[in-house]
Amino acid sequence: MKVGVLALQGDVAEHLSAMKRAIRRRGEVIAVKKAEQVSKLDGLVIPGGESTTIGKLIQKYGIDKAIHANPELAIFGTCAGAILLAKEIEGYEQFSLKLMDITVARNAFGRQRESFEVDLTIPALGEKPFHAVFIRAPIITRAGKGVEVLARVDDAIVLARQGRYLACAFHPELTRDSRLHRYFADIAAGNL
Ligand code: GLN
Repeated sequence: MKVGVLALQGDVAEHLSAMKRAIRRRGEVIAVKKAEQVSKLDGLVIPGGESTTIGKLIQKYGIDKAIHANPELAIFGTCAGAILLAKEIEGYEQFSLKLMDITVARNAFGRQRESFEVDLTIPALGEKPFHAVFIRAPIITRAGKGVEVLARVDDAIVLARQGRYLACAFHPELTRDSRLHRYFADIAAGNL
């Protein structure tokens, strides 16, 4: 199995080490900067950062076309990456890959809760709570029919899956808990 981390902007290094920790000898993890790397991947992580900047760079390097041309590719979008997976972004005219039938609201927790941490219950990962770090995080305000909601904070959806796509509002690469990266590796490997 080969998993890439999109290395254009954002938390690239943290995702590379989290992904390596999660898959160990099951496969290879590479930094992706060029469109031609995408056709050889089973999975791609789109990290947190600034979604408009990452979106512009994705288009500039033709990575959007390479993603759309790989029908098997699993994608794990975290924070800005989740915004880039969404079909609709509330209130912004900006690029997105439109691969998941979700609507997102950027910076949705407001100024007072710009950054916060919370122990989340994510039944798909087991009973132990997942310590989630939110940084100017989006929320998912609408999830279409084929979308499975995996976690919420209060009423807001913060983790969702649609087939081989996984959208996460927080930053799982910033803690030592590899369960979410492992969950994604299982999707990319076709085991889940
Ligand atoms: N607020 C950022 C955006 O809208 C996302 C924040 C993040 O990725 N930490 O692009």
